[in-house]
Amino acid sequence: MNRFSYFRAESVEGALAALAADPGAKLIAGGTNLLDLMKYDVEQPSRLIDITQIEGLDTIGETTTGGIMIGALVSNTTIAYHPLISAGFPLLSSAILAGATPQLRNAATAGGNLNQRTRCYYFYDAALPCNKREPGSGCPAMEGVNRNHAILGASEQCIATHPSDMCVALAALGASVHVAGPEGQRTIAMADYHRLPNGSPERDTTLVAGEMVTGIELPAGAKRFAEHHSYLKLRDRLSYAFALVSVAASLQMDGRAIGDARLALGGVAHKPWRRTQAEEVLIGRPADDETFATAADVLLEGAHGREHNAFKIELAHRAIVRALSQAAAGTPQSQSDKRIA
Ligand code: SF4
Repeated sequence: MNRFSYFRAESVEGALAALAADPGAKLIAGGTNLLDLMKYDVEQPSRLIDITQIEGLDTIGETTTGGIMIGALVSNTTIAYHPLISAGFPLLSSAILAGATPQLRNAATAGGNLNQRTRCYYFYDAALPCNKREPGSGCPAMEGVNRNHAILGASEQCIATHPSDMCVALAALGASVHVAGPEGQRTIAMADYHRLPNGSPERDTTLVAGEMVTGIELPAGAKRFAEHHSYLKLRDRLSYAFALVSVAASLQMDGRAIGDARLALGGVAHKPWRRTQAEEVLIGRPADDETFATAADVLLEGAHGREHNAFKIELAHRAIVRALSQAAAGTPQSQSDKRIA
């Protein structure tokens, strides 16, 4: 690990000034990913800017438009169990509780969850090439062990997947990310916050240098999905594992027909994978397996498997159908009891 200095910011302005003064600096809050990256020599910050003491970023409250604002420093545990979230946006609670462990969820923050990095094995081994860690050095995952890698939206530079569960639910709920930076404040739609690798896999998000996340906003309209949702996460073991495939499904039911729908996948791409066309084919149709399979076909169009991950295409198709069935029936996937009925 390299030597670094430490600075505790007391305000957003102070954190931004410290970031601007040192391009090698990194923000730290829970540190549940950054400290690992530093120990593996993947990240070598010259300075850590501790933002945990900044007031006003650790609360959850209602906005003037009836939505919910989650401060960047709110822990994953607090979000999952907060009454405004569990009542109005239970899909988000379910997705968060599907991730990591209780100890990690206690420490990890909303902002850190958004900005966590891929768990590609090669990315974490500084002795190996990796285009995301060292642009232009190559991608050993292409011909290597790629069981956890992308089947959608990959590039010739990188086939890594985004690891978060929370972000898959945020994508389905149409959340937006509030950001502060040298040019002032701006809001980024969740769909645009994470990016596909294309020719620059070193960039995970559309944040620009010197910016920091201050909060996540959930729109009031997404409460209409509270009754019919499911977050289905499939993985190699039932806890403390990243998704092979996950599905965030939200429906608004109109009798047995689907009035409105939101659908996103995790574990399959460099960002939460959402296609509005897959949602459009659900609307106005009966909530049955044929409709769900059609949506899965659309959402997975263009999927491409490699030696160890081609199975994820069929797995994702089945998971989409199951998650939509659970959402329609109002029987969301339990994150503590995973038995298949
Ligand atoms: Fe690196 Fe991406 Fe290739 Fe993994 S998939 S080795 S992160 S370039």
